[in-house]
Amino acid sequence: QAMNVPEMLEEVADRFSFQLRKKSIRAAVRVEDGIEAIWLDRDQIDQVLDNLVSNAIKYTLDGGRIELSAHRPDPASIAISVKDTGIGIPKKDLSRIFDRFYRVDKARSRNMGGTGLGLSIAREIVKAHGGSIALDSELNEGTTVTVTLPALQSGGELG
Ligand code: ATP
Ligand code: MG
Repeated sequence: QAMNVPEMLEEVADRFSFQLRKKSIRAAVRVEDGIEAIWLDRDQIDQVLDNLVSNAIKYTLDGGRIELSAHRPDPASIAISVKDTGIGIPKKDLSRIFDRFYRVDKARSRNMGGTGLGLSIAREIVKAHGGSIALDSELNEGTTVTVTLPALQSGGELG
């Protein structure tokens, strides 16, 4: 269905307002001009974004920041990023982070809850929609996950 992208990102942040407040994490939404209605599978993309924002909160210390942003890298695509100022991911783990059940350092995630499935599910959904998911992380500085999807303007035409 056609979706309003800024609204969609605001609503993700709203769904996590309790967790955000509990950790005093501020969430910002930044959307490039000209991104309004885009055809996307709302339920599935929400599931992806919820997984990413849940990670961003889980792996960010109290008082950190999260940014949800969207831009058009080219006329046929939309890129949505979830960026945090969290603990980051060691370089040696980056290649396995999308594997099922893979979690960095059991010690740090033991008390966090979860199974290590979030990112693998997110990647499956994104791939099923013809998109890609990329992760960029700096240990102790933060992580950015970017989902790139084919975007149809609400008229139905490409770009
Ligand atoms: P689940 O999503 O099933 O609740 P999970 O969050 O541990 O559990 P994934 O979402 O698949 O599993 O993430 C895999 C691992 O990648 C996490 O355990 C964590 O070590 C690391 N990770 C994911 N996102 C981040 C992030 N934003 N910052 C730091 N580490 C992250
Ligand atoms: Mg997760």
